[in-house]
Amino acid sequence: MAKAKRRKLFPCGHRGQGQVCHRCAQEAEARNEKQSEKAQWAATFREDVVDLTHLPKNVVIKARHIINGLQEQQDYRRYKGKRLRHNRFVISIPVTRHYRLLCRDHGSLVVPEAVISHEDYNVCKPGG
Ligand SMILES: [Zn+2]
Repeated sequence: MAKAKRRKLFPCGHRGQGQVCHRCAQEAEARNEKQSEKAQWAATFREDVVDLTHLPKNVVIKARHIINGLQEQQDYRRYKGKRLRHNRFVISIPVTRHYRLLCRDHGSLVVPEAVISHEDYNVCKPGG
């Protein structure tokens, strides 16, 4: 009967061969990769003209797309932007179903001010 390869018990509780637990080593590597991805992603926020750090990734990407467009003098209406009824100088542009990009009309240019959730947006509206 062939002797099975020795599997030792590592301090982590996994069993395996070699000096270190490969399962844990692999997991650690995956974690490191994720962390550097996260750091790279976090660094991209430094370029933003409005704070997008609190938003889900897909919202950030869409918001940036719209903001870039506005900076290139694209018409806000191209992004389905609308002026608020109670403040004609504020333009609300839908980013996703749940988020709006609020911009201020400075005459010759539309300046992005904040991305807010639909819930916050409704709170902002006077009289509900
Ligand atoms: Zn392990």
